[in-house]
Amino acid sequence: MAELSPQQTACLAALAAHFSPATCLAGEDVPIRNEADTSFLPRTRPIALVRPDTPQGVADAVRICAAHGVAIVPQGGLTGLAGGAHPVPGAVAISVERLSGIEEIDAAAATMTVRAGTPLEVIQQSALDAGFFVPLDLGARGSCLIGGNLATNAGGNRVIRYGMTRDMVLGLEYVLADGTLVTGLNKMIKNNAGYDLKQLFIGSEGTLGIITRVVLRLQPRPGCTLAALCGVGSYDDVVSLLGAARRGLGPLLSAFEVMWPDYWKEATETVTGVRKPIEGQHAFYVLIEAQGLSEDIDGPRFMGWLENQFEAGLIEDAAIAQSMADVAMFWRTRDAAGEFQTILGPHVAFDIGLPVSRMDAFARTCRQRLADAIPDILSVYYGHIGDGNIHIVALQRGASPQPAAQISRVVYETVREFDGTISAEHGIGTVKKPYLGYTRSPEEMALMARIKAALDPKGILNPGKVFDLPSAP
Ligand SMILES: Cc1cc2nc3c(=O)[nH]c(=O)nc-3n(C[C@H](O)[C@H](O)[C@H](O)COP(=O)(O)OP(=O)(O)OC[C@H]3O[C@@H](n4cnc5c(N)ncnc54)[C@H](O)[C@@H]3O)c2cc1C
Repeated sequence: MAELSPQQTACLAALAAHFSPATCLAGEDVPIRNEADTSFLPRTRPIALVRPDTPQGVADAVRICAAHGVAIVPQGGLTGLAGGAHPVPGAVAISVERLSGIEEIDAAAATMTVRAGTPLEVIQQSALDAGFFVPLDLGARGSCLIGGNLATNAGGNRVIRYGMTRDMVLGLEYVLADGTLVTGLNKMIKNNAGYDLKQLFIGSEGTLGIITRVVLRLQPRPGCTLAALCGVGSYDDVVSLLGAARRGLGPLLSAFEVMWPDYWKEATETVTGVRKPIEGQHAFYVLIEAQGLSEDIDGPRFMGWLENQFEAGLIEDAAIAQSMADVAMFWRTRDAAGEFQTILGPHVAFDIGLPVSRMDAFARTCRQRLADAIPDILSVYYGHIGDGNIHIVALQRGASPQPAAQISRVVYETVREFDGTISAEHGIGTVKKPYLGYTRSPEEMALMARIKAALDPKGILNPGKVFDLPSAP
C-alpha cells in the first residue's frame, strides 16, 4: 500500500478515536473481501473500513472523512458488476453491512422500514411472513443489501409487472457528502410536496450520498405462481407473444424472459442442475410467469390463454409448471447465467437495453461483428425482453486475459447504432464509464456533473465512478 498522506493519517486517527476497533478497521485489518466487488477489477485495499451500525454512525464517518478531504467508497453486499463499490486508491470504505434489520412493518400503510444493510433475501422472507410481498428479486438475493439495490436501482426478474427498485421506494434516509443526515421516511404513496429528492439518490451508485434507511412499498402476497416454458419459432412470434401476454394476462404477467439458442445450449448442456423443460430445437425459448391471487380462478385463465397462443401458432411447444418445484426448475434455465463464471471462465458480461422490436436484429448484428473482429469468440444472448433489457456474455475461447476492451467497443458501438442504452440495470461504475456518452447526450452529462458538484463540491463520494468530473478551467 502506498504511503499515507498527512490528511489520510489524520483522518485515520480521527476515525479510530471516534469508533470502536470493531467498527473501524485499518491497514492489514481490513478484510480481503472489502478489496473488490464482483466486477473482477484488480483488488485495491481501502486505507480503512468503517462499518457503523447506526445512521448517525454513517454520518459521523462521512463528516470525519470530509473534514480531512479523504475519498469515500460506499459498500453494500459487493455483488455489483460494474465496479461501483470497488475501492479507489487512498479511499476509506464505508460499509452498511452492520446497519442491518427491519425496523417496522406497517400493515395499514403496506410499508416496511428497513436499514440499508439488510440482505434482500431477509426482506423478501420477512414480507412473506407478514402476508406481503417484496417483488424485487435477483440472482444475488442472498448477498446483496437493500442499500446497494437502491444505489444501483436494481432491476431483476419482475420489472415487467412491478417496475425497477425506484418504483418500490416511498421514503429514504441518506447521508450527504458533508455528513448531514437527511431523514425522509415518507410512507405515503402520494406526496407532491416539493422535489422528490429520494429519486436523485436512487441509482446514483453512491456518488451523491450514502443510503441508511428506506421505506419500501409492500405488495399483496401472490396466491399462486403460474409458469410455462415455451419454444417459439421466430422473433416476430416472440414479439407477438409478448403483446398477447400483456393483453391476455394483464396485471398477472410477472415475467417474460427470452433465451436465444446459443444461450439455451450453454445453460442446459453445461450448467450442473439445469434440466431442459422442453426438448427439440426452437428459434427462441420463452419463460412466461404469471402471479395470481387464486389458483382456482387464475390457473384456468392462464391455461386458456396458453391454448389460444398454441392455436394462433405463436407457441411451437411448451412445458407448463405443475408445482412450485417446476416453476423453480424453469427459472434455473434463466438463472444458469450466474454459473457462467465457473463454467465458461473469465468473460465480459453486458446488461444493455434496446427497443424490443430491434433486439434480434441487434443480436444477429452484434454476434457477426464480434465474430469478424475476434477469432474464436463465443457470445450468448438472453434477457428480460419484456423490460427492453438483454444480457450478453462474450469471451474469446482460451484467451487470458480476455480482450475485454475490444469486445466492449464492438458491443457498445452496436448498441449506440441501435439507439439502446449501455446499462439497463447494473449501472455504470467504472467498467462502463468510457461509454456513458454513447447513451447520454453532452447536455445530460453536463447536468449530471452540475448535480454532483452541488451535492459533493469536494468530490469525495465515490470519486471516478459513473463519470469523471470536468477539470477546473
Ligand atoms: C449472480 C448475480 C445476479 C445479479 N442479477 C442482477 C439482476 O438481475 N438485476 C440487477 O439489477 N443487478 C443484478 N446483479 C448486480 C448486483 O447484485 C446489484 O447491482 C445489486 O443491487 C448490488 O447490491 P450490493 O449490496 O451488492 O451493492 P454493492 O456491490 O456493494 O454496491 C453497488 C453500488 O452501490 C453503492 N452502494 C452500496 N451501498 C450503498 C449505500 N448504502 N448507499 C449508497 N451507495 C451504496 C456502491 O458504492 C456501488 O456503487 C447481479 C449480481 C450477481 C452477482
